Amino acid sequence: SADTSMYKAKELGRNNIQFFKKDMKEAILNKIEMESQLFKAYENEEFFLEYQPQFNTIDDSIRGFEALIRWNSPHYGCVAPMNFISLAEETGLIINIGEWVLLTACREFNELQQRFNRNLCLSVNVSAIQIRDKNFVGIIKNVLAKTNINPQQLELEITESLFIDNMDETIKMLNEIKSLDIRISLDDFGTGFSSLSYLRRLPIDTLKIDKSFIDDLSDKDVSIRIVGDIISLGHNLDADIVAEGIENSTQLEYLKTNNCDCIQGFLFAKPMGVKDVEKLLQNTPSN
Ligand code: C2E
Ligand code: MG
Ligand code: MG
Ligand code: MG
Repeated sequence: SADTSMYKAKELGRNNIQFFKKDMKEAILNKIEMESQLFKAYENEEFFLEYQPQFNTIDDSIRGFEALIRWNSPHYGCVAPMNFISLAEETGLIINIGEWVLLTACREFNELQQRFNRNLCLSVNVSAIQIRDKNFVGIIKNVLAKTNINPQQLELEITESLFIDNMDETIKMLNEIKSLDIRISLDDFGTGFSSLSYLRRLPIDTLKIDKSFIDDLSDKDVSIRIVGDIISLGHNLDADIVAEGIENSTQLEYLKTNNCDCIQGFLFAKPMGVKDVEKLLQNTPSN
């Protein structure tokens, strides 16, 4: 009857709220657990770096490598950065983790340089939280001094999220970084807060076209035109263009004919450990 179905609906609603509360509680507990695991991970050095090569389209030579963090957790197994970087940002731990990444990447790169002495670029991702940290420039100087890396071979990858607030402060900071002779790359370009007027004011050396545009290259006319526009925009700003996430030869051909400078993607190589980087350098001529 109508009465019992109403009763059932109420009962169901109550149960749903119970489920919802249980889910929320579980999610919160999981997050707290991961937070404590993340702090331990930092203390116990459970992180390591992989490097994904970037190639120059003009002669297929190696442009350099992007350092990408990995977390080998005894509790969770291997955790992708997508699943812990934002938590590290929320807790502020990204400042310490980011410093570890920068130091480790520069150390490992320096060892490769001593062995191979090649004209390569090391790209390191930095979070907006790190850049807004008052000590950031000091941290970079410290890493440069400790590792003896040539600053002109170091490139910091930043994202547009940096410019959401306090544009002037951010530009000042970036100019300070630039004065150390380090390159600045704008990562995931096209996905964030993009205003063309702010681009002109940024000391950008490299523009990375986000994978989402590259994904669409094979079949969508609009994306093809947009990628072409991004490439000319970048060249007008005197920036190198790196396309990321290239998985097939259709995308590659398109990027080559449209004067994209550099390419990075699974079609050429996945992120790899230092041993494999050494092998790759051994087997390729220098540019
Ligand atoms: P990102 O900086 O845009 O790095 C490129 C990501 O795309 C990497 O994922 C790389 O493995 C992946 N990728 C490259 N080529 C291809 C392809 O052809 N196909 C597919 N499917 N994927 C491709 P990863 O290593 O999982 O990193 C994800 C994101 O995590 C990075 O995106 C970056 O935003 C962040 N991240 C990684 N390492 C660090 C770090 O040391 N510090 C900070 N702050 N963020 C980091
Ligand atoms: Mg990046
Ligand atoms: Mg990117
Ligand atoms: Mg990306």
